[in-house]
Amino acid sequence: MCSIARECLRQERVLNERVLREQLEALLLKAHENEAKLARFGRLEQQLMAARTLVQLLWVILQELPASFALDSVRLILDDGDGEWAQALGIQAAASFSARGLMLCEDLDWCGVCVGPDWRPVLSGWDDGHHAFLVGEQDPLPGSVALLPLARQGRLVGIVSLLSHDRHRFQNEDGTWFLERLASFMLMCLENALYYEKLERSSWLDGLTQVNNRRYFDVRLQEAASHALRHQQPLSLLIFDLDWFKRVNDQWGHQAGDRVLQQAAQLMRSMLRSSDSFARYGGEEFVALLPDTDVDSATEIAGRVLRAIAGFSFQIDAEEPLSMTVSIGVAPLEAGAGDQPAVVAGRLVAHADAALYRAKEAGRNGVVVHAS
Ligand code: GH3
Ligand code: MG
Ligand code: MG
Repeated sequence: MCSIARECLRQERVLNERVLREQLEALLLKAHENEAKLARFGRLEQQLMAARTLVQLLWVILQELPASFALDSVRLILDDGDGEWAQALGIQAAASFSARGLMLCEDLDWCGVCVGPDWRPVLSGWDDGHHAFLVGEQDPLPGSVALLPLARQGRLVGIVSLLSHDRHRFQNEDGTWFLERLASFMLMCLENALYYEKLERSSWLDGLTQVNNRRYFDVRLQEAASHALRHQQPLSLLIFDLDWFKRVNDQWGHQAGDRVLQQAAQLMRSMLRSSDSFARYGGEEFVALLPDTDVDSATEIAGRVLRAIAGFSFQIDAEEPLSMTVSIGVAPLEAGAGDQPAVVAGRLVAHADAALYRAKEAGRNGVVVHAS
């Protein structure tokens, strides 16, 4: 072989080696990137799993996910046709998370065009026509978007959308294995949290009247008393007791009595504010804790409930509807210097109870305020 041919062969070998080395380096780089990505996803999965309540979980998805993945923002769209998510969150948390990217929708039919029929993640540049619903009017427009459908049993139940100002961050041809896995993990955590909240809520409810029960009231009372003392705000308690209720059972039967209790509970609840805590205390007795309410306002509210009950026609499957009256005891929170919340709370109940007793003695169908 002549020296020119040998030189050609050597150069070819050098070239091949360089190409191979570059390919190997690219592969190694990709492997490192994937390793780092896997670690980041692993950390996120741990955070999702560690979230013990729905509120904590939403915080991870809407606050920690964008921070740890260098995203501009995350939007979580959930099908809330039956109002379960809103109920589990409560009005305040739902409003606070809607300002952070949570969107509770009555249905997701309109989302079908954005995510396609097979519920796989869709990565693309920003498209006003398809993505406008993801940003507010004042928000800067993102450069690219990843839409991760959350699907259960072939039905779309939500979408997690990741928004980046970088036009190249999410592209059609990118692999979506990590994102698919993340979406199904998030859905599992969200549904677990919803289930847990529902279970938790049912243990606070009275089965017959569907208003809160005594257990709920006892907890709320301690919280409300501590809060009122700390912030030096008024707090009032109303105790309601239906008059001559035993006669309903005796004359019309227990089922009629149950129906009266259900209607009375719903009527009283509807006359209070959503910030008031209303509960069935036991039997035909109910309680309402009115935060930030002085005794005069509380007495006025009690008077309104009293008149509403007296004017209501209770339906009990008899020919004629039934009329009922209620007696109400009212007491304001009273605290001496250094009193512990539990002591103050106990005193509040005792005072309202004593006022109720006097309302009964005074002939029923009346409101009596505890005199200090
Ligand atoms: P007062 O005006 O003094 O309050 O008289 P009252 O008849 O309302 O009071 P009393 O305490 O004598 O009777 C309360 C009745 O409520 C007795 C109990 O059987 C009935 N009761 C308690 N819980 C339930 C319930 O869940 N369903 C029905 N139907 N009755 C109940
Ligand atoms: Mg009673
Ligand atoms: Mg009674």
